Amino acid sequence: KVMTLQLDQASTTQLREWETTLAQEYQQFKASGLNLDLTRGKPSAEQLDLSDAMNLILGDDLSNESNTDLRNYGGLDGIPECKRLFAKVLGVANDEILIGGNSSLTLMYFAVLFAQNQGFGALGASWASEGKTTKFLAPVPGYDRHFSVCEHLGIELIPVALNDDGPDMDAVEQLVKADPSIKGIWCVPRFSNPTGTVYSDQVVDRLAQLGKLAGSNFRVFWDNAYAVHSLSDDAPELANIMDRCRAHGTEDSIYIFGSTSKITYAGAGVSFAGMSKGNLKAFSQHLGMSQIGPDKINQLRHVRFLKDSEGLAAHMRAHAAVLKPRFDIVLKHLREGLADTGMASWNEPQGGYFVSFDTLPGLAKEVVQLAADAGVKLTPAGATFPYGKDPDNKNIRIAPSVPSLEEIDRAMAVFVNCVKLASVRQRLS
Ligand code: PLP
Repeated sequence: KVMTLQLDQASTTQLREWETTLAQEYQQFKASGLNLDLTRGKPSAEQLDLSDAMNLILGDDLSNESNTDLRNYGGLDGIPECKRLFAKVLGVANDEILIGGNSSLTLMYFAVLFAQNQGFGALGASWASEGKTTKFLAPVPGYDRHFSVCEHLGIELIPVALNDDGPDMDAVEQLVKADPSIKGIWCVPRFSNPTGTVYSDQVVDRLAQLGKLAGSNFRVFWDNAYAVHSLSDDAPELANIMDRCRAHGTEDSIYIFGSTSKITYAGAGVSFAGMSKGNLKAFSQHLGMSQIGPDKINQLRHVRFLKDSEGLAAHMRAHAAVLKPRFDIVLKHLREGLADTGMASWNEPQGGYFVSFDTLPGLAKEVVQLAADAGVKLTPAGATFPYGKDPDNKNIRIAPSVPSLEEIDRAMAVFVNCVKLASVRQRLS
C-alpha cells in the first residue's frame, strides 16, 4: 500500500522510496491495458434512456396552443407552452424568451456575432462599428466553447479569476470601467463548467449592475446551462438575475441562455434565450435571416414529456440518481488518495457535470500525459482557459458522467497515482 505523506514534510529518502513504490504501481496500471475516458461532459446512455418516452409521446396528436401548423414553417420564437415552461427555468417573463433549435451554443454564437456585426437595433450600434478590437471577460477556469466562440469571431479574451462565490467582481468592475472595448462577460452562474461554482446573491447583484458601469452596448452572457442540474435537493439556489437587473434598470444588459441538452437528449433537445423585449426584437430580426423557424414538433414533445416545473424537477432527480454515485466515486478517490498530501485541491460540486482539479503549479500537462500513457484519457490541460493556456498549468477537468461506476473507479485509481507520481518527482527534482 502506498503511504500518504504530507509532500513537504517528507525527507529526500522518504520521497525516493515513495517514488519507487508509485512508479511500480504506475507500471502495473500501464501493463493492464486500460482504455478509459474521463473527458466527455455529456449524458450517459443511461441518462438518455430517461427521456425515451418522449419519442412516442406525440402519436398523431400535434394539437397545440399556437396558430401555426407545427409541421410547417414559422414560429421563429417558439411555441407558447414551451416558452412558459422554460421561462420559469431562466427566471424571465413569458414574453422575454425565445425557444430555439437543439443547441444553446448556437444561440450564444449568434448573439455574439449579431452584436459584433449587426448591433442591437434600437438598443445600440454594433461593437465592430466602434473600430476597436472587441474584448470579453472570461472567468477562469471556464467552458472552452465560450472561449472558442470569441476566438472564432476575433474577440479578445481577458481572464479574470473565478472565486468560490463567482467571478472576482472587484477585478471585473475595474476592468469594465477602465476599458470601454470590453463588451461582454461569460458566466455559467449555477454549477459552473468546470468548477461547480454557484454565484452568490451578492455577485449576481453586482453583475446586474455592470450595465451601469459599462456602456449601453455591454452584455452579460448568462449561460445557465446547469440551471436545474443539482445532485442533491439541498444544493444552493441561484438569485434571479433578470429581477436584479429590473431593480437596477439594466435589463437590456443581459442575455440569458439554457437548453435541455442535459435534461432530455443532448443532440435533440431544445435551447432557449431570455432577454428584454428590446433585445429579443433585435435578436429575432437577425436570427430570422438565418432560418424561417425552429423544430416546433420537438418543442411540443418536450412540453408533453416534461409537463411543468414539477415534472421537470422529478425528471432531474432521476438524472441525479444516475450521476451522484459517479461523483461520489471520484470524490472518494480524491479524498482517500490526496487529502492532506499538499499535492492537490479540488471542488466538491453540488450539481453540474464536472469536478475541477488543481495539481501543484506546473504539473497538469504531465499528469494528463502520464494518465494517457496508462490508458486513462483526460481533458487536455489548459482547455479550461482562453487560448488553451493555463498560466499555472494546474487545472484538470474531470467528467464522470459517461463511464460506468467500475470504469470511474479504475480510472480514478490511475489518476491519483499519476498525481502523486508527478508531485513526488517534482519535489525530488
Ligand atoms: N454551456 C455550457 C456551460 C456547457 O457546459 C455546455 C455543454 O457542455 C453547453 C453550453 C452546450 O449547450 P448546448 O448543448 O445547448 O449547445
